[in-house]
Amino acid sequence: MKKKIAIIGAGPGGLSAGMLLSSRGFDVTVFEKGDDVGGRSARLSLGEYHFDTGPTFLIMKSLLDELFSQCGKRAEDYCSFSKVEPLYQLIYPDGKVFYPGTDYDDLVEKVAKLWPQSLQGLADYYRAEPKKFEVIRPLLSRPVAGLGDLVKLDAVRAIRHLHLDKPLYEYLYNYFKNDEMVYAFAFQAKYIGMSPWDAPSLFSILSWLEHSEGLYHVQGGLNQISSAMKQVIESHGGTVQTRTPVKKIVVDGKRTTGVQLDDGSICHADALVLNADFAWSVHHLFPAGVLKKWSPKKTASKSFSCSALMLYLGLDTIFSKLPHHNIIFSEDYRSYVLDITGKNLQLPSDPSIYVHNPSVMDATLAPTGHSSLYILAPVPNNRAGIVWPDVLPSFKKQIIELVKNKCNIQELESHVRVEKVITPEDWANDYNVYEGAIFNMGHQFSQMLMFRPHNRFEELQRLYLVGGGTHPGSGLPTIYESARISCELLEKDLS
Ligand SMILES: Cc1cc2nc3c(=O)[nH]c(=O)nc-3n(C[C@H](O)[C@H](O)[C@H](O)COP(=O)(O)OP(=O)(O)OC[C@H]3O[C@@H](n4cnc5c(N)ncnc54)[C@H](O)[C@@H]3O)c2cc1C
Repeated sequence: MKKKIAIIGAGPGGLSAGMLLSSRGFDVTVFEKGDDVGGRSARLSLGEYHFDTGPTFLIMKSLLDELFSQCGKRAEDYCSFSKVEPLYQLIYPDGKVFYPGTDYDDLVEKVAKLWPQSLQGLADYYRAEPKKFEVIRPLLSRPVAGLGDLVKLDAVRAIRHLHLDKPLYEYLYNYFKNDEMVYAFAFQAKYIGMSPWDAPSLFSILSWLEHSEGLYHVQGGLNQISSAMKQVIESHGGTVQTRTPVKKIVVDGKRTTGVQLDDGSICHADALVLNADFAWSVHHLFPAGVLKKWSPKKTASKSFSCSALMLYLGLDTIFSKLPHHNIIFSEDYRSYVLDITGKNLQLPSDPSIYVHNPSVMDATLAPTGHSSLYILAPVPNNRAGIVWPDVLPSFKKQIIELVKNKCNIQELESHVRVEKVITPEDWANDYNVYEGAIFNMGHQFSQMLMFRPHNRFEELQRLYLVGGGTHPGSGLPTIYESARISCELLEKDLS
């Protein structure tokens, strides 16, 4: 008899776990509350205009390839990948623009023109980062459940490279000695919803991976990876049930035994994989009183990432001079970051914004001659107490003005055919994201490795966590790794 596995949530974490477990002979059912798979990585369609709900930067594609190959498949057979080159357009307050790419000589030429004083630092950075990544990677590829895991030889080597005493900004400033250049390699802290002044310097590997391995687009959007994963699960005999919210996790003593669905029915399982946002689940899915270390109160006392105000615009034109990825830096980047991640959370008066214009390289996202434009403004999570219906009209206007002026698309508004907004309140209510903190629990050192909820959940047997809320953390590559780590533990426990 095949062992039965119930997976709660069909986000990238749950789908990756579903692929791995179904391909290894488990009887897998994925329960997803949404109409389609993907969660924060689902396709969002407004008529004939299609968008990625969330992720648009695919780094470390090699990990995705590995994941598919471990399931006997090739990612290329399901998705059409293309490299985004240059990586992005960075727009500075004084109007300066920087287009870093993966070609080192080209990068040196650009840096020589903009910030010649950073050239030596760039060379040093390129020498140091590959080594740093090589020693850190094993730590992100296996479970870290306690101090025992940290005294293993590879972990000890990695710890030396974590520069625990230095936040990311300071670490990069040591190389580049120039704020603008630092921001070009530090803004990636946004991928984990953190401030470069708080994020551990470990996260310099994010920009390094972009520069060394490149960034990828998938035709149709990164959401197509979610659809591909669903197909792989089904090809191995697994089932993905959309529009099927899980109401409760069923617990017998210290062990999980199944899930209760909204209609009251119980589905028994030999093991559960939890992909729904961990902090949200703690507050909604576990029977009262079961959790101690991760009780709702203790979980709520942790730090959480920022959120984002999203604008998805279907346009009756294509702004062909606007690159695929664009980052607009605010006048005072540090104050802005403090507004969205610091102690006094507030709506930023001087926001930094990300603009995604994938229609310049993908004609499948909108009718011919039209385009799908996505604007992401990082804002505080719901702990800021912002009343979104009150502030939305003026904040949205401010963002549109910024995009028009900084991206040189003055006529933007006259081309909008359809639009959708997602606020931090919507992330919480519609996507079950605790406090609308879209990049999960913060990635401060005190909430990473064994301090994060463990892949083999430490409070209940036969429960495994996947997704951004567990080790190694938020972001697609680490989420794929979370599934690989958790599935290996599950297989070991059940065999
Ligand atoms: C706006 C935005 C931009 C991002 N950009 C990037 C990027 O460019 N690159 C990158 O690597 N990462 C990015 N991320 C971060 C991260 O990769 C994504 O958020 C990713 O989707 C998280 O995956 P997950 O599996 O942890 O959770 P989710 O995608 O949230 O999946 C959890 C699933 O559980 C389901 N669920 C919840 N409750 C229940 C229930 N009771 N019953 C059944 N199902 C339930 C949800 O509907 C959802 O499908 C971004 C995130 C956001 C929000």
